Amino acid sequence: MTSPIGKPRKVIPIAPVTSAPTLKGEAVSSLYEAQKKIYPRSISGVFARWRWVMVILTQLVFYGLPWLEWGQRQMVLFDLGARRFYIFGLVLYPQDFIYLTALLIISALSLFLFTAVAGRLWCGFACPQTVYTEIFMWIEHKIEGDRSARLRLDSSSWKFEKIWKKTVKQSLWVIFSVWTGFTFVGYFIPIRELGVELLALQGGWQIFWVLFYGFATYGNAGFLREQVCKYMCPYARFQSAMFDKDTLIVTYDEVRGEPRGPRIKTVDYKAKGLGDCIDCTLCVQVCPVGIDIRDGLQYECIGCGLCVDACNNVMDKMNYPRGLIRFSTQNGVAKGWNQSQIFRRVMRPRVLIYSSVLVALCAAMLISLLSRTPLKVDVVRDRAALSRIVAGGKLENIYRLQIMNATEVLQRYRIKARGLDGLEVVSDPEIKIDGAQSRWVAVRLQIPYGSAKPGSHAVEFDIEAIDSDTRLVEKSVFLVPR
Ligand code: SF4
Ligand code: SF4
Repeated sequence: MTSPIGKPRKVIPIAPVTSAPTLKGEAVSSLYEAQKKIYPRSISGVFARWRWVMVILTQLVFYGLPWLEWGQRQMVLFDLGARRFYIFGLVLYPQDFIYLTALLIISALSLFLFTAVAGRLWCGFACPQTVYTEIFMWIEHKIEGDRSARLRLDSSSWKFEKIWKKTVKQSLWVIFSVWTGFTFVGYFIPIRELGVELLALQGGWQIFWVLFYGFATYGNAGFLREQVCKYMCPYARFQSAMFDKDTLIVTYDEVRGEPRGPRIKTVDYKAKGLGDCIDCTLCVQVCPVGIDIRDGLQYECIGCGLCVDACNNVMDKMNYPRGLIRFSTQNGVAKGWNQSQIFRRVMRPRVLIYSSVLVALCAAMLISLLSRTPLKVDVVRDRAALSRIVAGGKLENIYRLQIMNATEVLQRYRIKARGLDGLEVVSDPEIKIDGAQSRWVAVRLQIPYGSAKPGSHAVEFDIEAIDSDTRLVEKSVFLVPR
C-alpha cells in the first residue's frame, strides 16, 4: 500500500472489527473500537526544547496582547458589536474586510510554502492544538509523573493517591481552560470590562462564550489530544498535495537501522548482521500521536521531532552516530545527501512560485495599507425627494452621506460638490466627527433652475479633512426633471 505521502508502508487497520457477546450468547460485530489512551514519555533534546520555546513565545503573545493598551483603548480588539477591528494603530471597518481576506490568503499561502519546505513543522511546534496539548501534558506530568507512573496510576484502584492526583490535575486543567476562554473572548470584548463583568457574575453571553471556549480548550487538549490531529484536522489530509521528495520530514534511516534487534553495548553487532536500531522502542514511547516512525512516513506524524531526540539520546549511549531518525528529505535519505545538498534543493520551482506570489501579495497589502485614506464616505440619494424646485428659483437634490472618521481623533470635514454650472452645497458644509466614529449627514445640492438639461448628470462630492491633508472624492448623480 502507498501512504498518502507516497512511501510504501505497512497496512494498519484503522478500526478492527471486534465481536461482543449478546444476551443469548451470540456474537455481533462492532465497527467501533475505543481509542487507546497514549502515555507519551518525557524526553529531553533539541526539539523538545524548541517545542517549549514555541509554547512560551506563542502563549506570551496570546495571553499578554489583550492587556496591552494603545492610547485610550485595547491594542488589539475585534469589536464585532461596533463592527470595528483595532489592530495597533489601525482601525478597520467592514469596508476594510478586503485586508482580512488578503491576510487569510497570505496565511494560507505561507502555510503552503512552509509545508513545501519544512513539512509539518507548523503542526509539531506552533499549532494551537500542539501547544495546548503540550501545556496540559506538562501539568499531567508534574502531578501524575512520567509515562510509567501514569500507566501505574491509571491501572490502580481508586485509592486516596489516585483521587487527589486526578482531582488536582482536573482542577488545574479546568482553571487553565477557563483562563484561556476568558483571554480568547477578551480579543472581542475589552478584557478589563469583561473581567469586571465576570467577577460580578454579569453578562450571560460573555459567561457563555468564556465557558464555551474554555470547554473547547479542555476537550481538545485534555481529552481528544492527538485524535484532533489524526481525525479532525483537514490540514493533515491535504498536506500530501504539498509534499514532494525534497520536503523536510522526520525519517527513519531504514538502510542503517535494519535489521533491528537488542544487543549489549560492547558486542560487534555488525558481525551479527544487525543494524543500528537496538529496538528499544523509545521513539514510539515519546511519540505524542502514538505511531512508530520506523514503519515509514505516516500522515499522523506531526513532525514534532521528539522521536529524533529520543533516538539521538540512545545513539549517544550506544556510541553510535546520531541521526538514525532525523529531519531529512526522501531524496536526501535515498541518495545519501549531506545537509548542504539537501538545503540546496530548497529553492525548487514550487517553492519559488509560492514565494513570488506571497511576496507580491504582502507587498500589495502593505502598499495599500500605507496609502489607505483614513476617511470613508458612502453616498446615498434621498429617495423620498428625488428632485424639487425650492425658493429662489433653484433646483435641489438631497443626499445622505455616511462619513466615517477612521482616525482615532476628532476630525472636521468640509463638503464640496462639483460637476454642474452653479452647483453649490446649501446645507452646512462643515461637520465634526469623533475619532473612530461615523455619522449620517443630509447634504442638499442646488443649481439655478434651467441651468442644466433634463436628465441625469454626474456630480462629485469632495470631502476634505480641514486639519489634515486627507481627502476623498465620491461620485453620484444630480437629477433634473423634464
Ligand atoms: S513520529 Fe516522531 S516526529 Fe512524528 S509525531 Fe511521532 S514523535 Fe513526532
Ligand atoms: S529510538 Fe532509535 S534505536 Fe530505539 S527503537 Fe527507535 S529507532 Fe531504534
